[in-house]
Amino acid sequence: MENLKRFRQGLLSWYKNSHREMPWRTEPTPYRVWISEIMLQQTQVTTVVAYFLRFMEAFPTIESLAAATEMDVLRAWEGLGYYRRAKNLHAAAKEICRKHSGKFPRQFDDILALPGIGRYTAGAISSIAFQNQKPILEGNTIRLFARLQNIQGDVSLPATQNLLWSFAESLVANSRRPGDINQALMELGNQICTVKNPHCISCPVIQHCDAFLNGDPSKLPNKPRKIQYESLMEAAIVVRRNKKTLVRLCLPGDRWAGLWDFPRFSISEPTDSMTLNRLLQQTYGLRARSLTPEFRIKHAVTRFRIELHCFWAEGVTGKTESKTPVRWVNDQQLHSLPLSATGRRMLEFKR
Ligand code: SF4
Repeated sequence: MENLKRFRQGLLSWYKNSHREMPWRTEPTPYRVWISEIMLQQTQVTTVVAYFLRFMEAFPTIESLAAATEMDVLRAWEGLGYYRRAKNLHAAAKEICRKHSGKFPRQFDDILALPGIGRYTAGAISSIAFQNQKPILEGNTIRLFARLQNIQGDVSLPATQNLLWSFAESLVANSRRPGDINQALMELGNQICTVKNPHCISCPVIQHCDAFLNGDPSKLPNKPRKIQYESLMEAAIVVRRNKKTLVRLCLPGDRWAGLWDFPRFSISEPTDSMTLNRLLQQTYGLRARSLTPEFRIKHAVTRFRIELHCFWAEGVTGKTESKTPVRWVNDQQLHSLPLSATGRRMLEFKR
C-alpha cells in the first residue's frame, strides 16, 4: 500500500477515540487475551463479556485452569456453546504447564501448536499480548481488506486468501504497535466497514480505499453463493410388538447409510394416520390399530431442511415383509444399535 505510514496514523487515531471498552483490552495479559479470543471465536462481544469475567474469577491463572476438572471448566462455559473450545482451552492450559512451566509461550509457532489455536488466533494473541508483528485475518478484516484492495476474487479460494494474508502482513510489518493495528482493523471492519451500507463517509482510511475510489464496496467481498436449502417433510413410525421395535437398515445411497432407522416415509403434507397405516402395510406388511402423532423434529442434513413427523404405532398385526433389511429388536439391542441421529432423538423424546 502506498502511504502506509499515513494509513496507520489515520487508523490508530480513529481507534484511540472510537474503540469499544472490553475487559481484556484494559489488561491484555497473554492469558486474558487468549481466553477472550477463544470465547470470541463463535460468540458476540456483548455476550462474551459476562462469561469472560466469570471465567477469570473461576480460573484466574493458567495453573488454576490446568488444575480444574473438565467438568468445572465445562460448567463455567455452560451457555456459550461449541464446547470443544472449552475442552481445548483446558488441554492447552495443561500443555502450557507441562511444556512451558505455566507461562504462556511467546513464540508464534509455540502458540500455534496449542490445542484449539489456528493462524488467526495465534496472530491475535501474538500481536496483542506480545507485540509480535503477526497478521490476522477473520470475518471483519477479510471484508475490510477486500474493499481496501478492491479484490474481486472469491475470498474463500486459497489464491485470494493468500493475497489477503499478504496484505495483512504488510500492514503490521515493521510496526511498533502491531497489536493495536490488528485490533483497530477488526474494530474498523465491525463499526465502519460493515457488511451492509459501509459508512465510507466516516471512514478514517477512505483515501486509501481502492473499492471506494475505483469500484463498489457494497459488492465486496465476493463470497461463494449461499447453499440453496430444500425443504422436505417426512413421517417416521416407532412400531412396537411384543416388547420389540422394528428397525430398518439404511442402505448405501440413503441418508445415514449403514445406520439403523425407524420406518420412514416421504410425505408432502402433515399426514393422517389412515394414510400412514396404508404406507406401513404396503412397505412392511404391517397394520397398526392406532397410530399416534407424538411430536415433530426439525433438522438439517446437507442441503435439506427436514420436518419429521414422529408417530407411535400400537396394536400391530401382520407378517413383516420388506424389500430392504429390517429387524425386530428388544430395548437393549435398540439401545446399542447405531441409530440415525433423528432415530436416537425420537427415543429420547419419548422417554
Ligand atoms: Fe470500507 Fe468504505 Fe472505508 Fe473503504 S471507504 S474501507 S469500503 S468503509
